[in-house]
Amino acid sequence: MKLKDLTFRKTIAANKISTKVSSLAKQINHDYQGKTPLFLPVLNGSFMFASDLLKEINLTCRVSFVKVASYSGTASTGQLKTLIGHEESLFNQDILIIEDIVDTGLTLQKIMDELRSLGARSVEAVALLRKQPAREKNLEVKYVGFDLETEFVVGYGLDYDGLGRNLTDIYKKVE
Ligand code: 5GP
Repeated sequence: MKLKDLTFRKTIAANKISTKVSSLAKQINHDYQGKTPLFLPVLNGSFMFASDLLKEINLTCRVSFVKVASYSGTASTGQLKTLIGHEESLFNQDILIIEDIVDTGLTLQKIMDELRSLGARSVEAVALLRKQPAREKNLEVKYVGFDLETEFVVGYGLDYDGLGRNLTDIYKKVE
């Protein structure tokens, strides 16, 4: 499969993703029994995963899509990131962030810190994919779908230069 200048090979088939999504939903349904969690899918990459996962969540819950926006800081601090788009009050909420992929984990760490500082009761994350750097760092991701090494992947919401988000399988870049 080609996207622009790169070649990709299928690595996780749609039926495997679907089975994994069901098992993640089952764990979340169990762990959040009696609570009314607020799901925060992080756009753009998590739209497909969030949609499939939430269809299998049987809890009373809220959903609010968020985005991580970069804005330029000073030359010394470089790029700062902040969370935009959350309309619900986050105070005293049990928040579950929905991420497509965690690589270094810097983005997720930043989001979790920000949500905690806004007074959330609990902040956890569910990531469909986790790469080796985040795994090594022991970053707190409570629910993980698949562990990857360091390969670049597309499909099922993930893009290469804006392309490939609509693919139902996940593909990895061929070296
Ligand atoms: P982190 O802050 O964990 O290093 O980066 C996380 C973000 O980088 C993800 O939300 C995603 O947007 C992007 N990213 C990391 N690895 C990949 C990958 O293999 N494929 C794609 N399409 N995006 C990735």
